This record gives sequence, C-alpha cells and structure tokens, in this order.
Amino acid sequence: MIQHKNPAHLRASFLSLDSRQIYEPSKTAFFAVNGLHHDGHQYVESLYAKGVREFIVEESAWHGPIAEKAANWEQTNIYVVENSIATLQEIAQQHRAQFQYPVIGITGSNGKTICKEWLATLCNHAFTVVKSPKSFNSQIGVPLSLWAMQEKHNLGIFEAGISQKGEMDKIEAMLKPDYGIFTHFGEAHGSNFSSDEEKLREKLQLFKRAKKLVYRVTNLQDDPIKQIMQEINPSCELIGWNTISPDKGLFTFWQTKGKTAQIKVIKAAQSETFIDSSIDFNDEASLENSTHCLIMASILGLNRDTLSLKARVLKPVSMRLEMKEGLRGNTLIDDSYNNDLDGLRLALPLLKKNKHKKSVLILSDFLETGIPEKELYTTIAALVRHQKIDRMIGIGDQIIRNKTNFDQIDVFHSTEDLIASGLLNTINTSQILLKGARKYNFEKLVHNLENKTHRTQLEVNLDALQHNLAYFKKDIGPKTKLMVMVKAFAYGTGAIEIATLLQNSGVDYLTVAYTDEGVYLRKHGIFVPIMVMNPQIEEFDKLTDNGLEPEIYSLDLLKAIDEYGMQQGKNIKIHIKLDTGMKRLGFEASEIAELSQNLAQMPHLWVASILSHLAAADSPQHTDFTEEQIKRFNSAASKIESSLGYQTIKHIANSAAIQSYPSARLDMVRLGISLYGITGNPNVKNKIENVLTLKTSISQIKNIAPEETIGYGRRGKLAGSGRIATLAIGYADGYSRALGMGKGSFEIKGHLCPTVGSICMDMCMVDISQFPDISVEDTAIAFGGKIQLYELAKQAETIPYELMTNISERVKRVYVTQ
Ligand SMILES: *Cc1c(COP(=O)(O)O)cnc(C)c1O
Repeated sequence: MIQHKNPAHLRASFLSLDSRQIYEPSKTAFFAVNGLHHDGHQYVESLYAKGVREFIVEESAWHGPIAEKAANWEQTNIYVVENSIATLQEIAQQHRAQFQYPVIGITGSNGKTICKEWLATLCNHAFTVVKSPKSFNSQIGVPLSLWAMQEKHNLGIFEAGISQKGEMDKIEAMLKPDYGIFTHFGEAHGSNFSSDEEKLREKLQLFKRAKKLVYRVTNLQDDPIKQIMQEINPSCELIGWNTISPDKGLFTFWQTKGKTAQIKVIKAAQSETFIDSSIDFNDEASLENSTHCLIMASILGLNRDTLSLKARVLKPVSMRLEMKEGLRGNTLIDDSYNNDLDGLRLALPLLKKNKHKKSVLILSDFLETGIPEKELYTTIAALVRHQKIDRMIGIGDQIIRNKTNFDQIDVFHSTEDLIASGLLNTINTSQILLKGARKYNFEKLVHNLENKTHRTQLEVNLDALQHNLAYFKKDIGPKTKLMVMVKAFAYGTGAIEIATLLQNSGVDYLTVAYTDEGVYLRKHGIFVPIMVMNPQIEEFDKLTDNGLEPEIYSLDLLKAIDEYGMQQGKNIKIHIKLDTGMKRLGFEASEIAELSQNLAQMPHLWVASILSHLAAADSPQHTDFTEEQIKRFNSAASKIESSLGYQTIKHIANSAAIQSYPSARLDMVRLGISLYGITGNPNVKNKIENVLTLKTSISQIKNIAPEETIGYGRRGKLAGSGRIATLAIGYADGYSRALGMGKGSFEIKGHLCPTVGSICMDMCMVDISQFPDISVEDTAIAFGGKIQLYELAKQAETIPYELMTNISERVKRVYVTQ
C-alpha cells in the first residue's frame, strides 16, 4: 500500500462520498468523511471487499485496527489527508484546469437546473456537452460534477448553488466559468445572509473571472448586478436583457398564444431580431429561463434558425422523482428526468431501498448521449448486473440490437407494444423504476401501472424531511440520541416510507403507540429499536417476538411483564414512564420508591430508558411549570438509576421542548411534528422546510347568478354574480368541515380562493370570481404552498396534529425527492 498525501492522480472514473452509491467499485474512489453523525471511515473495509481500490481518508480518523489492516491491502491506494472534502475540491480544481473548452456557470435563486438542462438541449447537436447531473450544485455536488469532464467533450455546463457566505469563492475556484448565466434573484436561501445585496454579491462571485454574463434587467434605472459586476470584474461583458424598453440593450419581446409563447430578442442599436423562437410554455418563469438559454446559445454560435427549431423541443424538466403507489402491490419510481447514464446510476439504488420487493427496471433507448452504442449498452448492462436487478424490460431499437449484453431482458419496439403484450400485468410486489426518453411516452406506462383511486393526494417531500432531520441532528449534537415518533402512521404521512428513511439515516429509536403498529414496521424491514407506548398485556407475545420494547407506566403492568418474562424465560427491555405533571400515563412521584424496589428484584427486565412527557412545552406562559416538570423528572430518574445500579437513557423533550428548552434534551430527544417542518417557534420556522402538501383537482367550474346559493342548507352565497370551482376533496378525506364558509382557502394558480358554503363529504366549493385565469385543469392546494398547515389549523380551531392524522386512507400518499 502506498500512502500519498496528495491524490493528484486518481485513476477512478467516479468519485463517491456515499458508500451506498457505488456501482462500479473498481472504477470508483471513495472519500471517507468524518461527519457529525456519520463516519465514512467505517465503510472502508466493506468497500475494499467490494472492490474499491482508491480511498481518501482523514488523518484524524485513520488509526487503530482498520489502518493497520489496510496497510496490507494489495494494489490499493490510500491517501491520508487532513480533510476529505477540501481534497475533493482541490482535485476537482486541478482536473477542470486541464480543459480549455468553454465552461458555463449558472447560478441564481431559482431556475438553475432548468437553465442547465435547456441550454444543454439547445446545444447538444452542435457540442459534446458535459453537465452537472440532476441538481448537483453544492460544495460537494460541483466537484463531483467536474470530475466527469473529459477530452471528448467540448462544452461544460454546470450549476452552482450556495447557502452561506464564503461558499461561492470555493466553487468559483473549481469551476472557473468562462461564461455565466444569472438566472433569477429571489427569496430562496435567505436566512444565512444579512441582506439581499450581500446575497447577490456573494452569488456574483461566481463570475469574478468570467468573460460574459447573461442576466435579466428588471429595472433600467437601478441595475444592482451591473453595479456589483463593475466592481468585482470590470472587464466582463454584461449582456443584460430587458422586457421594458426597445431602446435599451437587448430588448426581449414575449407574446403568449394559448399554451405556447413566442420570444423575440432585438439588439437595440441595430433593430435586428437575432432570436425568434416559440416555446411550449406560457408562464413567466419558463419565458425568463428560455430567454437566458437562447441568448447564451446564440453567444455560443447557434444561429437564429437553428435556435427556433431547437426551442420547440424544450420540455418541462421534472426535478423530482415521484414515487407512486402502483397496482398489485407495486411501487412506481417515475424518473423521466435524466435519460442518460448518470441519471441511471443515481436512480438504480432506489430500487434496492425496500428489500422486501423485487426490483424491475423499464428502460428505453438512451438518445443523444454521444457515447458509441456498443460501449453505452455494455456499461448499462454492467450497472444492471452489479445492482442485481431482478427483471429488466427494454424498449427501442438500440436496446433490441444490444440485447445480448444483458443476462436476461424482455425487449419491445415501442411502449405500446409492451402494454399490448400483457407483460405488465404479471408484475407484482415490485419496485419499478421507469426511465424513458420523452419520445417513448412513458407516461402511458405510468398510467397503466398506477393505482388511480382518488384525485386527492398528500405529497410528502422526502428531501425536505431529510433536511429537517439533518437540522435537528446538528442542533442536538452528536452526544444526544434521537428518537422519532412514527405513531399514527407517522402522523398520517406513511409509516413504512418514513420509518425506512429514518432507519437509513441512522436514527436511534422509533416509537409507535400500539403493538400492531410496531409489528407492521417489523414486517416491512424496520430493524432499529422500537418503543411501544401502549403495550397491552394480551399482546406481550407479539411484542417480544417482534423485538418491540414496551413503555411501562404502572405497577400492574410492571408486574405483568416481569411475570411474563419469568414464565417464558425471556429477558425484556423496558422503558419506564414517569408522570411529572401531564396526568396521562406514568408512575407518580409517590410510587418511585416502590417501583425502584420492584425493579431491583426483576432480573428479567432491563430498563433501557426512563422518560416523561411535558404538558406545555409549546406555551411560553407555562415556562415555570415545564421547568418544574424537568426538575421532578431528573430527581426521580436519578433515584431509580441509583437503585438499579446502572445508567439508562433519560428523555423528556418533544419537538417543542427540543427547540425551547435545550436543558431538557438530556440523553435523547423525541422528535415528532417538527420533522414535518411544523413549529410554532419563530426562531426555528425559517430553518426547517415544509414537507407536506395536500393537493386536489377541480371537478367543475360554474358561473353563479346573484340570487343563487351554493351547497347544503343554501349556506353559500357570493357577493353578487361570480364563479366557483368544485374541488374533489371533502371532510371524508380529512379536510375539516370547520374550514367551510370561508374559514379555509385553497391555493389555485397562486391565488387564495376561500371556501364557499359548507364542506361536503367528498367535495367542497371555492370562490374563484376574482381569478378568470383559473381553469378545470388547475390543481388546488389545501396546504403546503402559500397556506401553512399551522395557520390552517388555527382557522379550523384545532392543531396541526389533528389535521395531519385525519387525512384519510383513501388519499394517496406520493413521495417526492429530487
Ligand atoms: C407524540 C409524542 C411526542 C412527540 O410530540 P411532538 O409534539 O410531535 O414532537 C413525544 N413524546 C410522547 C410521549 C408523545 O406521545
């Protein structure tokens, strides 16, 4: 083994920081990062066994048995560095510096990924493009993206995103863009910057050595981008375009026609129209993004006619990967996002997340990848083999020509042929990944495989959930354990999906209310410790057979579980619940002595933790009471521990207490509602993200005459004549009847539309008189967009918990991630 300090010459084609995302081990270099909650070094040995031969490890974590063992590994390079991420950035910078072809950097608050994808689409016939996969735009995403640059490319398009001051300088040093696009300056990522100007200045650092910058001028008198750029890079040619005045700079003219729009760009001095294209979009954001891309493509040398042909093929970029419930127990992962090798590489591991389902991949031909066909399909076959995909279906002539590369594959000329074959009906209890180029119309497959029961859906944004989880993990620090409450179907969001994600993210404990909820999790592959809050004596068998840990809250229950343990000869882990003021479940202060005596004589029981619950952690007016509860708890717990003779995990803090009473965090916290981005704490509100969006469709739109009334009891009335929309959601879906009569609103096309009349069982009506642009195709959002669940709950005179857990089973849960 050779130990280098500086891995300037890695052989690997791929770099990875995530041990789960390694597909071609012999071609991958693994960067072990010692993070707050996660130490990549612990995977080094198993990755070596899988065939990884290049490792970058951190000095501070590289010692002990693993370092000694690794010293004898053959043909393996281990680079011991101070900081793996900094090293990753350095080598990305050196790698990028080898290439002279133009590199375009894209930043801004919104639209980075769309602009990157669209610009690549506009240019892909004229250039061999290398670009960031998905939204890889962070301190880690950018270097990983740059590593893909090769001699065979002749244009690089990369996006850059930041969340904190100082980050853009590091990205700029690596990316060093020749040209730039500044997409849009909005509100995203605000909280870590003191002002808009500071934020803008930081973002513009990306262009401090760029030769040209394309951006939109929204105010001809006051152009902050120009001002800042003239300071930080006066020699950069600023290509500001505007839609305001034909006499200034690049004037852009937009005209919408139905669902399409025409874009013309004119140079003021020459009155020459050098761009004249139509696109299949009519919204402002798409018009803005496509204008950026058309102008940049024209700078790169594409002429007006080519651009007008290419603009027509711009399609929506779905940045999300949707997981849907399918028929016959299938789960669909619809990822028509990146129809290329990187996209496939990133998506394949998703098929392995649920080990209880078979994995099926349906793949169309990859178009316009620039890779020779033979090489392309050999690589795909290797990926599929490595991931041990159970069944593979290919669509398209290229795949048919190359089918012998695959161990086993069913092939079809077209999507329609596959559907007609009836093969889809034989797939059950599987996870199905769909990856198809647009021209193969995979939406027909989705339609065929999807479980379409109801038109209302609860969208659960798993990225936001991960973000919140990371936020709380960081906030509580590495010494405090994390228990997450997944009772009541994970607050209505879906027990298995959420518990699986939490398990994969390394939470210490999960908690359910009832034994059956715990059994259900065990049946679906959840193996982390699970506490059950309401164990029933009749269910002790079920409980212990499934390795569930009961919360014991009374002497009767304690005696019962002890007897059960003795009879069965089982050792049982229990959790002792103390009542410190909630007056719900738990031992009273007066019972602590007797409890301790009993426990001391119960060798079959092991007290894993002692807990209590706070009654009013979310009410500042009860601070004294809450502090008293914490005091009572500490004193009782220490009495129990001293009689036990060992330490237990002590916990009392729910979401509100985690945020308002850091001293209550003790050994472990119990996170619940705030995991979903819901909090009453104004200091935390802007640090966590919304997870849940309840959406429905419009069934019908009606015009209402002044004398007409709306709905049951004739209770709904408009001010005069007007227009209403009937929505496919009612109280049976969990939209509370208390939200009728204008108490609740739905967001439709960005407008807030109040309910009118009473909420019915399966439907309700909203007033859309003010908004002529609303049509039956639009989606209505009950909460999650402009309407916050927290506020909506106030309108319904209840709490978010109740609205969440009331969302009925018939509402489809859809899990979205980037
Ligand atoms: C539900 C529950 C929690 C979590 O409460 P949140 O307010 O959702 O954080 C914590 N502890 C106990 C005992 C609970 O029942």
